[in-house]
Amino acid sequence: MKSTIGVTLIFLALLASPFATAQIAPGSMNVDWNEGARDCVKDPQPPLQVHRYNADTYILRESPCATSEAPLKYLLVGTRRAMLIDTGDVADAKQMPLAATVAGLLPKGLPLLVVHTHGHLDHRAGDAQFEHQRNVRVVGTDLHHVKAFFGFKQWPEGAARIDLGKRVVDAVPTPGHYPSEITYYDRNTALLFTGDFFLPGRLLIDDVDADRASARRIAAFATDRPVSHVLGGHVELDASGELFPFTSNYRPNQHALSLSKNELLALPAMLDAFNGWYGTSGMFVMINQTHELQLLGAAALLILAAIVAVCVWLVRRVRRHRRARLAQAQGHGDL
Ligand SMILES: [Zn+2]
Ligand SMILES: [Zn+2]
Repeated sequence: MKSTIGVTLIFLALLASPFATAQIAPGSMNVDWNEGARDCVKDPQPPLQVHRYNADTYILRESPCATSEAPLKYLLVGTRRAMLIDTGDVADAKQMPLAATVAGLLPKGLPLLVVHTHGHLDHRAGDAQFEHQRNVRVVGTDLHHVKAFFGFKQWPEGAARIDLGKRVVDAVPTPGHYPSEITYYDRNTALLFTGDFFLPGRLLIDDVDADRASARRIAAFATDRPVSHVLGGHVELDASGELFPFTSNYRPNQHALSLSKNELLALPAMLDAFNGWYGTSGMFVMINQTHELQLLGAAALLILAAIVAVCVWLVRRVRRHRRARLAQAQGHGDL
């Protein structure tokens, strides 16, 4: 009897929970991403790969041959409008038919909202294909536009809610890699879109304190919610965990795009252990871009100073020799 009451209570609690898992729309992550080519001229690749996660959720990825960034974009379709997260690295519609592809995936006439995880060019270069289109709104990527559009009063605290029609998406500020970065959570599929803030590979950090606070904020957000997959803006590793070079157009045997909720929940501790310059933790490589640039700047200054010192020494040496020769010649003349 006791156990019957217990089971009933758990069942009622599950029904009452706003984050009950029963309604999560399933989808497929069974996809092999285009690996590019050793020679993209001899072996051209389709510029844009579309993976249908489920009937109203698409993952789009630019081929490593089209851009070595090979960024990912996500299209969520609601009953009243659709939302595209990021527009990728290639502006020219002839090279990257993004707007035409998205239009082909949407029901005719459905309005489209274009938002971004953040403002780095490899996530917004395709905006130009959508600006000036009817029924399309493109949200700017600078902090002013992001705060105004989503209505963040106390950035980076709080979360915004975007209603696409029978599909609600939460927008949670996660600055650190970029000052106006946002992570999106789709309540229908429980997919979490983390852009460059969290992805399989390099975590490039611009502001360490902001990044740590964002990790705690998004972990607190995710902890009581179901998360089916954590999906970032790039796949930068092969299956064995080796990083592809930054400029690589050929990425064989790629690591899975999807990260887990547990990996996300481990992020705050990982960043707390980060020394603020460079660190690794499992498959993740944490790099402080600002400090690295400062280090490169200091190294460049040192090299410059060394070159100047050598030049000064050489000039003085030549002058000394010239003076010595002159004195020698004058000595001979006196004789
Ligand atoms: Zn970025
Ligand atoms: Zn990126």
